[in-house]
Amino acid sequence: MKPIQEIFPLLATPRKVVITTHQKPDPDAMGSSLGLYHFLLQFGHEVTVISPTNWATWLNWMPGADKVLDFESPGQSEKAAAALKRADWLFCLDFNIFTRTRNLSPALYAFTGTRVLIDHHQQPDEANFEYGISDTTKSSTSEMVYDFIVTSGNAAKLNTPIAECLYAGVMADTGSFRFATTTASVHAMIADLKERGLEHSKVHENIYDNFLENRLRFIGHVLMNRMEVFYETNTALIAIPKKDLLRFQIKTGDTEGLVNFPLSIQGIKLAALVIDRDEERKWSFRSKGGFDTNTFARKYFNGGGHYNASGGRSSESLEQTVERFKLAVEENAEQLQ
Ligand code: 5GP
Ligand code: MN
Repeated sequence: MKPIQEIFPLLATPRKVVITTHQKPDPDAMGSSLGLYHFLLQFGHEVTVISPTNWATWLNWMPGADKVLDFESPGQSEKAAAALKRADWLFCLDFNIFTRTRNLSPALYAFTGTRVLIDHHQQPDEANFEYGISDTTKSSTSEMVYDFIVTSGNAAKLNTPIAECLYAGVMADTGSFRFATTTASVHAMIADLKERGLEHSKVHENIYDNFLENRLRFIGHVLMNRMEVFYETNTALIAIPKKDLLRFQIKTGDTEGLVNFPLSIQGIKLAALVIDRDEERKWSFRSKGGFDTNTFARKYFNGGGHYNASGGRSSESLEQTVERFKLAVEENAEQLQ
């Protein structure tokens, strides 16, 4: 993978570009993709953003979200495939390996143009990218897109749509600027966006004050009835059966952030959330301090991510995968004490 700076001189020539991101895009995935979209449009490129799957409706306020193609939506997948076929460039944002794009993955492997990676996850599949940047010290891919714009000498192109999209991504991935990844450069970036006119509280409201009542009731139910705390190993687990998702009419994005709640309990170092989805049991892991969730997710749950935030999956039943988790925690008891 050649350094991303090598594409800076190529930006001025209009091309056909596709931008894609991981399945079930979160604010960083969607925000970085749309931030880059609004940037590249200004050079006269023809740009298409493709999401491998649907996304939370509370991301639809993002400028350009109405133009994003959902690869799993009938009617849009053909358009997405056609855009990929004729594209010269493919930007892959906020994921490290094509398998994170579910059904879109074969088309990305088959892509014959130039593939560019911008990402902050561990162990990127560099062999599949001609250009790119992978930096696990970065707060978010949105911050990396900001760096891309500024270091390519195009800070003047940072308009309001870009600022709103990138701010949303950084805000979400840093837990509203509280995680250890919130470096001085993050604050410098936000200061710059503010000076360019960003209204940041509007973005917070769009993301955090935009749910329906059922989601809050669901969180109440889950914290009351589905959370187990294991004080011997400083671990907490939330396991959500399918019937809860149906009862509270839970949609994509409604469970975002839920895994962070148990970390607010004094002493808890590892929080885990497992959701019984139709196609798989989906795991989320969050830790504080010296517990490496990336290694844990890779070893036991076919996943990965960052040191303090990772995900994984299992094809076992909810009960079986929960048992596997408990055994895995026992195996790691020493690191958790
Ligand atoms: P979340 O728990 O929010 O789904 O994911 C936490 C972090 O881990 C995100 O950065 C996400 O991209 C990554 N992640 C989630 N699930 C998986 C997975 O199955 N495999 C890998 N490699 N990373 C994942
Ligand atoms: Mn991210």
